Amino acid sequence: LLRARDLVKSFRGPDKLARTVVQDVSFDLARGETLGIVGESGSGKSTTARLVLALETADSGVVELGGRAWSTLSERERRPRRREISVIYQDPLSSFDPRWPVERIVGDAAEDAAQVSELLDLVGLERSLRDRRPLELSGGQRQRVAIARALAPRPSVIVCDEPVSALDVSIQAQVLDLLADLRDELDVSLLFISHDLGVVHHLSDRVLVMSEGRVVEQGTADAVFLNPKHDYTQRLVAAVP
Ligand code: ATP
Ligand code: MG
Repeated sequence: LLRARDLVKSFRGPDKLARTVVQDVSFDLARGETLGIVGESGSGKSTTARLVLALETADSGVVELGGRAWSTLSERERRPRRREISVIYQDPLSSFDPRWPVERIVGDAAEDAAQVSELLDLVGLERSLRDRRPLELSGGQRQRVAIARALAPRPSVIVCDEPVSALDVSIQAQVLDLLADLRDELDVSLLFISHDLGVVHHLSDRVLVMSEGRVVEQGTADAVFLNPKHDYTQRLVAAVP
C-alpha cells in the first residue's frame, strides 16, 4: 500500500554544510497494518514522515502509494490524490485554524454535514462541544477532533507523528485505544511515530528503529522489542524504566 525505497534527505545548516538526516530509508506498509518508527530525538523520524506525505522532496529515493507513483508526481498531479493519506501531529493546533469551530474544522475535509456528525460520533466528541473552537477544548478532545479530521477524506494511510506525546498518561491510553479501534474498524494503515517504546510495541505490527537518519533494525514489534539485535535498539530498550 505504501512503499518507500532508499529515501535520502539532507538539509543545509547555518554553516552551509549539508547534513544528511535521512539515509537510505526503505520500508513497506500493508493495508490495515501499523508500522512503528522509534528513535531518539533528531534521528529523522519526522523528516521521514514528511517525505512520505510529500511535504518534503527527497534528494533521492521514491515513495509509492496505493501501488502507484507518489513522490515523483508533480504537485498538480498529486493534489487530487491527497485524500489517500492523512496526518495527525503532536500538536493539533498546528494544523487547525483556531478561529474555526470543531464542526467547520472537520467539515472542511468532509463530504457533508452528515459525515461530520458521523465522524465526531465515531471519535466520541460530545455534541455539546462541537461548536467550540480548538482552544476551548482539552488536549485529548482536541486530538479527537484531529483524528476525525484525518479520517474525513477516507484515507488509506494515516501518518501519526507523536500523536499522544503532549497528553497526560490516562488521556494517552484513551486516544491510543481509539486510534487502534478505528484502524481495525476502517482497515486503515498507520505509520506510527513515537519515542515511547511501550506505546509503539502495543500498537505496531512491525517496527523500524532509526538512528542518525538510518534504519538500524526492523522487524516484528515482538522481535524488535523482546529480542533486539542491534546495539542501538538494545540500549533504547534497556533505557525504558
Ligand atoms: P524528534 O523526536 O525530536 O521529533 P525526529 O526524529 O523527528 O526528532 P527530525 O525532525 O526528522 O527528527 O529531524 C532530524 C534532523 O533534521 C534534526 O537534526 C533536525 O534539526 C534536522 N531538520 C529537520 N528539518 C529540517 C529543516 N527543514 N531544515 C534544516 N534541518 C532540519
Ligand atoms: Mg519528530
